[in-house]
Amino acid sequence: AKTLGRARYSYFHSELNSRLQANLELEQELAYAIGHDQLVLHYQPQVSAKTGEMVAVEALVRWQHPTRGLLYPAQFIGLAEESGRIAEMGVWTLREACRQLADWSARGIHIGNMAVNVSALEFRDHRLLDSLQAALDASGIPPQRLEIEITESVLMAETETSQRIIERLRQIGVGIAIDDFGTGYSSLAYLKRLRPNQLKIDRSFVNDTATDSDSRAIVKGVVGLAEALSLNVVAEGVETEEQRAFLQDIGCHTLQGYWIAKPLTVEALEQWLLNRRT
Ligand code: C2E
Ligand code: CA
Ligand code: CA
Ligand code: CA
Repeated sequence: AKTLGRARYSYFHSELNSRLQANLELEQELAYAIGHDQLVLHYQPQVSAKTGEMVAVEALVRWQHPTRGLLYPAQFIGLAEESGRIAEMGVWTLREACRQLADWSARGIHIGNMAVNVSALEFRDHRLLDSLQAALDASGIPPQRLEIEITESVLMAETETSQRIIERLRQIGVGIAIDDFGTGYSSLAYLKRLRPNQLKIDRSFVNDTATDSDSRAIVKGVVGLAEALSLNVVAEGVETEEQRAFLQDIGCHTLQGYWIAKPLTVEALEQWLLNRRT
């Protein structure tokens, strides 16, 4: 049993080592990727539940890795956060999303607002504001058309820095959306203080609305809360017609999910818009 234990230990040990090695490699590649056009944004439409009209897109980052193929955030955001590259990635994302929005505007393509995810870690650093302002200035898009999506984890660890950043964001005039609403453990007190523009109901609740009356009650409750506070409410992860109908029924304003469209490349989104009109 002892030798087995030792064998197992060294197995785990080498397993761990090779995983660390792989991470180190990926981390160095990520540093390179950010400056060398390997990151790309895909855009997922958000539509009005009432009219079906597109009101916004959410920018979602992908990494076009030269040998590993298209990587999704789950495969590298954690690494970017651990290695301190997330700020750099965030700067790129804000700039690229604003640039793309300006480009669509210039070409007369109406896509509504642009939502960008900002990681909790970025709220620890005032430079976030500089890069945001720079992205707005360079693109010339009105601040009101940009929505910053933050998760409740930003608010749970609300520090003086993050508080001040959020206040400044409001002054600049960009929108603030609370992402994955209902999955964090923060109290609702922050809603009063922070006055976000938008709540995004997490897809775990939306998913279960067809089968689970508790989930239906929660989603209804969030829509009611948003209504009472005059906030816009977005349901994410809408995957079926049944879910769509329920959400429309209870007065949810905005819908996002595979039922409407997956996250799309720039070209695919433009094609999607054309197809819808015909
Ligand atoms: P999120 O902000 O909650 O984004 C929604 C995720 O759900 C996206 O995954 C999207 O592709 C996926 N999704 C959309 N509709 C559906 C649906 O109907 N069904 C299902 N099953 N999934 C759906 P994605 O693109 O893999 O992004 C995962 C997470 O990575 C995002 O979650 C966000 O937290 C983070 N992320 C993405 N882009 C960025 C970025 O530029 N910066 C930062 N800091 N985080 C990002
Ligand atoms: Ca989001
Ligand atoms: Ca979300
Ligand atoms: Ca999420």
